[in-house]
Amino acid sequence: MKILVPIKRVVDANVRVRVKSDRSGVELANLKMAMNPFCEIAMEEAVRQQEAGTVKEIVAVTVGGAQCQDILRTALAMGADRAILVETDVEAQPLGVAKVLRAVADREKPEVIILGKQAIDDDNNQTGQMLAALLGWAQGTFASKLEFAGGGLRVTREVDGGLETLMLKLPAIVTTDLRLNEPRYVKLPNIMKAKKKPLDVIKAADLGVDLTSRLKVLKVEEPPARGGGIKVASVQELVHRLRNERKVI
Ligand code: AMP
Repeated sequence: MKILVPIKRVVDANVRVRVKSDRSGVELANLKMAMNPFCEIAMEEAVRQQEAGTVKEIVAVTVGGAQCQDILRTALAMGADRAILVETDVEAQPLGVAKVLRAVADREKPEVIILGKQAIDDDNNQTGQMLAALLGWAQGTFASKLEFAGGGLRVTREVDGGLETLMLKLPAIVTTDLRLNEPRYVKLPNIMKAKKKPLDVIKAADLGVDLTSRLKVLKVEEPPARGGGIKVASVQELVHRLRNERKVI
């Protein structure tokens, strides 16, 4: 069994981002970048399935500029066997990424593709679903548990108010939720080994996919600054203020 794991390079989750002065986006110059946390969970799950003996090969793939090789090396250090960079200068949006991933899936023929449920930069939560639609494959989104069973994949999903269990036929798409697993720290010897693992570079244009943007960002704004709190003298005053000033009850 082969698993394809698409991963995205995003601003490190611990960095505080600032909006550009012209409000066209966020400042990315000199910021620490990293693998999207939900993609780390996807990689970890693929590695655990391989350690359990179900999976033969893990291929990590990213769509982006040459600088994205760093997260592919991290994926290789986590346990991916091979990596593919689909190189483009265009900042690809979910539909474009999904089309590229379909082309990669046509070449690689994986049984399972595990993606993050969302990338924490744009919070789109679209790519996995679009890819499932383009390929016509079964999908299990927001997975908190994965088990190969009866020739298919049993996916436990986090839904409002509880858990839902689906049985997917292969090939299938899974997107990861936070509680699926806790990704491992990468050990130094594995970082050294990862340098020797194969990393192929394909030009997005060679896959025949049009990555032209279909969305236009009008403006990006900071959230409104939070006002200070106040102390109230009694429950009655609290209720009065919530009802008459804030108008929330
Ligand atoms: P999104 O739909 O943008 O929130 O992203 C959801 C998931 O799709 C991510 O966690 C990745 O697994 C995958 N993905 C999004 N963008 C890319 C990209 N440029 N390259 C590879 N995978 C991506």
